[in-house]
Amino acid sequence: TLDDLDVEGKRVLVRVDFNVPLEESESETRITDETRIVAALPTLGELRERGAKQLVLLAHLGRPKGRDPKLSLAPVAARLSELLGEQVALAADPESVGDDSVAMVENVRYFDGETANDPELAKRYAALGDVFVNDAFGAAHRAHASNVGVAELLPSAAGRLLQREVETLTGILADPKRPLVAVVGGAKVTDKIGVIDAFLERADTILIGGAMCFPFFRAQGHQTGSSLCEEEGVEPAARALAAADGKLWLPVDLVLGDRFAADAQRRELDGVDVPDGWMGLDVGPRTAYEYAGVIADAGTVFWNGPMGAFELDPFAGGTRMVAEAVAASPATTVVGGGDSAAALTQFGLADRVTHMSTGGGASLELLEGKTLPGVEVLSA
Ligand code: AMP
Repeated sequence: TLDDLDVEGKRVLVRVDFNVPLEESESETRITDETRIVAALPTLGELRERGAKQLVLLAHLGRPKGRDPKLSLAPVAARLSELLGEQVALAADPESVGDDSVAMVENVRYFDGETANDPELAKRYAALGDVFVNDAFGAAHRAHASNVGVAELLPSAAGRLLQREVETLTGILADPKRPLVAVVGGAKVTDKIGVIDAFLERADTILIGGAMCFPFFRAQGHQTGSSLCEEEGVEPAARALAAADGKLWLPVDLVLGDRFAADAQRRELDGVDVPDGWMGLDVGPRTAYEYAGVIADAGTVFWNGPMGAFELDPFAGGTRMVAEAVAASPATTVVGGGDSAAALTQFGLADRVTHMSTGGGASLELLEGKTLPGVEVLSA
């Protein structure tokens, strides 16, 4: 961690996760959620307080093919300048970083070899710092030049955000206050089967929602109508059900729509056999109420993935009720990144949980028991 790294008078190269959602209009590009930028401030502040001579930031944004100006870090540099109260100089290439006290290199995904962890690119980054700090939890499950390659070339340590993410997430599996409840939703069961398997071993209850309940229902022989149902998910779902030992809860009622749209026809179904021509777009009120009760009695809650198509207001009810139950719970509440974090923010509840992870994929891999390459490489 930063406790093990001497930074006074040094140029500190910091990998941050500034992969924020952007909205483009004719006149400007707007950051619609700055959580990740704000989350990096404690580390940057500590480095400045401890007398770092210069901070040079590396970050990625989206998945550009080459130098796509739409994915420039310019709006991020501008917002960070405001938050730090100091100009952040944006450099087009590693070689054009000057001696400004805070500098940022353009989107690392502009450079050939970034995602391939090219050692030559890692050397160009390493020339920018005396020491390296990785605070980009959201990218820690990838071995790229800006987080792994560069860490092999400089004395390195985890920033405070990365440290907190890893300690909190591994802590809920190692020594949770019980009952430990996992709430898992979203679109695809194959994305989350690893984490379901991990929680089957350790959790007391696993609550399933979102479109990923349909492979479970199909495995049980229910009709799923035109619901989004991932075919490759049926076999792993059946396996999880067989191993579940009563721990795995599925919805008992649903909200149906005739199509995926906010103005779709909507009806509630008491049961889970979806008729032809309809799709399940949310868990029903009875399910939401039961799930909220389990969450209220929990000692520790981990939540990843919405209960339904929460972006569409008529189908947001189940996700909203779960979000409110998580927010109201006195338990240790940990929310995986991505859509569940977006849902909490949408409902204005983001500051009501113990920990909201900044990394979706990374938090799932960590909970599955995998080692994150961006963490493993840090030497201090
Ligand atoms: P994930 O990225 O796997 O967490 O999935 C989140 C996405 O799943 C959100 O965009 C939701 O709209 C979508 N989703 C959740 N439940 C459903 C459902 N029942 N039918 C269709 N899409 C859903």
